[in-house]
Amino acid sequence: PSGNMPDYLAGLNPEQRLAVETTEGPVLVLAGAGTGKTRVLTTRIAHILSTNRAYPSQILAVTFTNKAAREMKTRIGHFVGEAIEGMPWLGTFHSIGVKMLRRHAELAGLKSGFTILDTDDVIRLLKQIIQAEGLDDKRWPARQFANMIDSWKNKAQGPKDISEGDARAFGNGKGRELYYAYQARLQTLNACDFGDLLLHPIRIFRENPDVLREYHQKFRYILVDEYQDTNVAQYMWLRLLAQRPGGERPNVCCVGDDDQSIYGWRGAEVDNILRFEKDFSNATVIKLERNYRSTAHILGAAAHLIAHNEGRLGKTLFTDHPNPDDGLVQVHAAWDSEEEARAIGEEIEQYQRKGHNLNDMAILVRASFQMREFEDRFVTLGLNYRVIGGPRFYERQEIRDAMAYFRVVAQGADDLAFERIINVPKRGLGEATIRQVHDAARARNTPMLQAAAELAESDELKPKARASLRQVSANFHRWQELLENTPHTELAEMILDESGYTDMWKNDKSAEAPGRLDNLKELIRSMEEYESLRSFLEHVALVMDAEQQEDLDAVSIMTLHSAKGLEFETVFLPGWEEGLFPHQRALDEGGRSGLEEERRLAYVGLTRAKKNLHLWFVSNRRIHGLWQSTIPSRFIDELPEAHVEVAEGGGNSYGGYGVGDRRNPYGSSRFDKVESFSNTYATPGWQRAQKNKTEATSRNWGNRSGHAVERIGYGEVDSGFG
Ligand code: ATP
Ligand code: MG
Repeated sequence: PSGNMPDYLAGLNPEQRLAVETTEGPVLVLAGAGTGKTRVLTTRIAHILSTNRAYPSQILAVTFTNKAAREMKTRIGHFVGEAIEGMPWLGTFHSIGVKMLRRHAELAGLKSGFTILDTDDVIRLLKQIIQAEGLDDKRWPARQFANMIDSWKNKAQGPKDISEGDARAFGNGKGRELYYAYQARLQTLNACDFGDLLLHPIRIFRENPDVLREYHQKFRYILVDEYQDTNVAQYMWLRLLAQRPGGERPNVCCVGDDDQSIYGWRGAEVDNILRFEKDFSNATVIKLERNYRSTAHILGAAAHLIAHNEGRLGKTLFTDHPNPDDGLVQVHAAWDSEEEARAIGEEIEQYQRKGHNLNDMAILVRASFQMREFEDRFVTLGLNYRVIGGPRFYERQEIRDAMAYFRVVAQGADDLAFERIINVPKRGLGEATIRQVHDAARARNTPMLQAAAELAESDELKPKARASLRQVSANFHRWQELLENTPHTELAEMILDESGYTDMWKNDKSAEAPGRLDNLKELIRSMEEYESLRSFLEHVALVMDAEQQEDLDAVSIMTLHSAKGLEFETVFLPGWEEGLFPHQRALDEGGRSGLEEERRLAYVGLTRAKKNLHLWFVSNRRIHGLWQSTIPSRFIDELPEAHVEVAEGGGNSYGGYGVGDRRNPYGSSRFDKVESFSNTYATPGWQRAQKNKTEATSRNWGNRSGHAVERIGYGEVDSGFG
């Protein structure tokens, strides 16, 4: 280390330094988990800025989650300061996409105030379109078509680009027409879906060379984290931005790990790693091999597991100083998921008593339905937790309703939002009236809000419905006028009061009503942080995890997919059972690739832990409301004996059952103890399952099913059941 080496470089190893200091030309960093890839990217930005190679605003950095973007922003904040040169463009593909699209909305046939539809909206819209084509939406479910559209968009395919086979596969061969109709409707609604946030910019770049040139001049340095998970559309977008005409070498740096590619099911292509070297000639390829994150045991377990995959580029990982005090990876067995949650809760409290922070602990699940059990348990214990990657708060009914009001005020053409609340609270507007408004809007090619106002003045409706519609449209008209000059929190409160929405819950006698009113208050409070109603709406559409209180000491609960790139002192991995992990869908596929992706997901899970790692499996699990007896995941068998031990007790209170038949077809003798745990439970399993089933059905699940968070096109996605 030389005397004048800047601080930010001093701690790096030689390969990391090379990756930071090779600022010019294409660079590909290909390296295993915890080797400092993200750190290299952050340091690279710092280096570019402090050596005055570019202004902050000339840097484009793509992260996989909004959380990662925020962290990076904080870490480089020091180098950016309060500079007049602006901030780097730093965020997910989608958040950068939306920023670009707002600037050039008119080139995509949109107005800049366009709405971003969430999955729910998309499905509702598609259902209408499918019905309008005279198709039975039970036979041709909107959800299925939404998934198809998403996967086309991930491949950067618009309606005219999809294959004949794809077009024929849905809606009696009307797939293409439906896709066209959907895009046309989006245009009328002045809206787009997540896929469009990249697709529109790609089209704009292709059709408007001057716009693309502007971005070429602007972005002197481009950086991409988690590169192994880019899909075709993202890669095209990136290549358009990076490749300059005239053979000028782009300063683009991508970092990734093929072993952590876990979004194949959503169109990500590991081949993009190989394509990089082809598309960007003379790229510097750098390997990092030293892991700074995990103990030797955790690393050993992870490396051994991932070695079972065949399709790998292959790489080594080592850690310098194995510490004799480091604990082995612990494998625990439990009777069922309730006991699993109880035991993990106890373990967390034990760690807490030993002085560990809750912030340093995480529970990573394969499917989001697993979360409920932990949430229930932690609420009982009074243990703080936060769910990352799923906006539970913004998904609540009352929040969605309130947001629908705000959306219509901000963007009068937002028919989906308008339809949601046109009769909420009840205003005597029946289905027939709403359909009439709908049809009138169609016929006149106007937003429903406007059609409602016009219908209210015609004699096509009964007097009561007319009065009601007149009232609604007058209200919205007034709120829209107040939009520019009234503080937005005040306006929001006014909207909820004057519309009768707040009263609706005040008059509601159900047990949940007071909680809903509190949530609405919290919603208004959370708006204070934003400049305007529009920027708040955009935030909600985009950001999934910001509603969590960052400063609270709390255990994190999230899916394995959203844990990518993160690290925690202590990690719990529940649900390592065949059918859940590896997921049944991957097993049903039969091929190698689905199973290997599951294994990479397991590798991601293991490598999130710095010091303590606990794996769990249960003998009985309720899946889709049905109890099933389960066997331990084959991944448990694939862990090396030297780094793993089967925890005694593990919080289970069911020891002492006789050994049943061998149920684990993948079982080797390596994990005798694990097997005997599972065998132990195998015999009496069905009896207990029966008992639990009756308990479960007699329990009131109320609104507790709201955990299936699905965000098509986002970093934060659950790929759970259903
Ligand atoms: P992943 O593949 O999981 O995204 P990564 O390769 O991005 O991992 P980082 O998150 O950048 O790895 O780094 C892992 C941990 O190691 C972080 O806590 C980071 O601060 C630390 N680290 C990285 N490089 C060094 C270094 N040279 N000296 C000390 N600590 C380091
Ligand atoms: Mg990383």
